[in-house]
Amino acid sequence: MSLLEVRDLVVGYGPHPVLHGVSFEVEEGELCVLLGLNGAGKTTTVSTIAGLLRPQSGQVLLDGASLGRRSPSARVRHGVSLCPEGRRVFPRLTVRQNLRLGAWSRRRSPRTVRQQLDLVYDYFPRLVEREDQLAGTLSGGEQQMLAVGRALMSRPRLMLIDEASLGLSPTLARTVWEVTSQIKADGTTVLMVEQNAGVLPFADRALIMEKGTLLHTAVGSAIHDVNLREAYLGA
Ligand code: ATP
Repeated sequence: MSLLEVRDLVVGYGPHPVLHGVSFEVEEGELCVLLGLNGAGKTTTVSTIAGLLRPQSGQVLLDGASLGRRSPSARVRHGVSLCPEGRRVFPRLTVRQNLRLGAWSRRRSPRTVRQQLDLVYDYFPRLVEREDQLAGTLSGGEQQMLAVGRALMSRPRLMLIDEASLGLSPTLARTVWEVTSQIKADGTTVLMVEQNAGVLPFADRALIMEKGTLLHTAVGSAIHDVNLREAYLGA
């Protein structure tokens, strides 16, 4: 059974849907990339999985059980954590305070919070140096690291990461993808939204979206097929 199953999602911001029946699965332990151009519906898809948007029809299943109308915070407790597009850190809180807020669902287990904090600092040593600094004063790359770290603090089973590379230099984007790959290797399933096809070498599964529909799915070696790039770039 897949960890995540998205079934026939129809989602809109008004009466007219922008997702027209999107279905896909993500297996436990995978790093899955959802690629597509501006406006393809990627953010709408992950926002629906995180419970921020209600589908007009369709379902999101975790371990075969529908998440139904569960709130975003209930989904975090079920192991689904979103690192939203645009970093959205709390600028007037310190790095440590931002991270601790990410562990709100684990607040009754200080040991888990400490473990997650150590883990995030292992992934992003730069954040240790910045621990007491206000998040608003960090560089763009550091804020992105903080946003990913904060999403990890709830100890998710499934992490949704929306366009982590946006606005970063190629080197920093690569660093974020490498760390994400390590997060996956350490056991967290990842669904990553990207516009940048440079992420493909890190993916176990690639989903190509266009105009609110899923155009193509590639798994394993098919991801490295040049035709996939052509299909994506030509989309
Ligand atoms: P981007 O990379 O630009 O975020 P995306 O693939 O994530 O693109 P979405 O943000 O999901 O795409 O947008 C899909 C469609 O939904 C677009 O046509 C967009 O204009 C529309 N849309 C997104 N957010 C809203 C909103 N808050 N209200 C109305 N329409 C929206």
